[in-house]
Amino acid sequence: MISEHTMDVSTSAITNVAVVGAGQMGNGIAHVFATSGHHVTIIDVSADALTRGMDTIARNLDRQVKKGAVTAESAAAALARVHTSTSLDAVANAQCVVEAATERVDLKFKIFEELDRLAPAGAILASNTSSIAITEIAARTKRPEFVIGMHFMNPVPVMQLVEVIRGLATSDATTQQVMALAKALGKTPVEVNDYPGFVANRILMPMINEAIFCVMEGVGSVESIDTVMKLGMNHPMGPLALADFIGLDTCLAILEVLHKGLGDPKYRPCPLLRKYVAAGWYGKKAGRGFYTY
Ligand code: NAD
Repeated sequence: MISEHTMDVSTSAITNVAVVGAGQMGNGIAHVFATSGHHVTIIDVSADALTRGMDTIARNLDRQVKKGAVTAESAAAALARVHTSTSLDAVANAQCVVEAATERVDLKFKIFEELDRLAPAGAILASNTSSIAITEIAARTKRPEFVIGMHFMNPVPVMQLVEVIRGLATSDATTQQVMALAKALGKTPVEVNDYPGFVANRILMPMINEAIFCVMEGVGSVESIDTVMKLGMNHPMGPLALADFIGLDTCLAILEVLHKGLGDPKYRPCPLLRKYVAAGWYGKKAGRGFYTY
């Protein structure tokens, strides 16, 4: 028998979405949804974050117009498709919600409990989490088959990959629908299973952490470590610049998840990373990290 969910996949296209969190990832995700014709509501607890997020989208659209990537008319139309709210109630008409709030387990659990209550029955609840278990997030809802990881890369309008993470209970129909949605955004989705850090951060974060140990131990300066990795390994940017770009608070949160979830001391966060985060040196978004901005 064909389930209702399977039929949904073939018959209903997703046109209305909500993005929770207007930070560097949330505004980028809203940007790509809007430019591909979706109606987007961005929701953030902070009205200032919403203002900054909308300003960033407008600025990035403007840059795309100047480069000739989009016309001024389609950029204006995309911007007009983005709305904002400080209340999660605004997910009431969303067919898919992508959560991109701060990387904290307790926060994500609370948001998903609320989303489950407020989003329409059958709506997909996706998380852009870098590392938190999709299976655990899904278990906080009464619709675990509709919960999935949709892990965009930073900066979202530029980066091609979307890591699609299946929780233990995620249905085939939800997975197919999210793979199709990512393609509709012009991205390349890759399906992976739910283990700490998934694939991207399971491999990236130990490298970043090791680079920070190299700074702490005086193996090399910040600039020399980044130069070795750029010129020697052909990486487009060094691991310390990349850590600043991701956000050092986010890097620390991901390493904590890897350390706890895999139980292996090789994932222990470098004390220097902890010190920078304690000081509020979160990287580019804070104006200071391994570099000054
Ligand atoms: P950020 O600090 O730039 O933004 C987080 C936003 O979440 C803030 O605007 C904050 O006000 C908002 N927020 C906090 N609590 C909220 C709530 N209860 N409801 C609604 N909004 C709330 O962080 P970011 O870099 O955009 O990261 C967001 C998510 O994306 C995290 O899960 C992170 O792990 C993931 N991610 C980050 C990157 C990266 O490179 N930074 C890459 C991929 C995935």
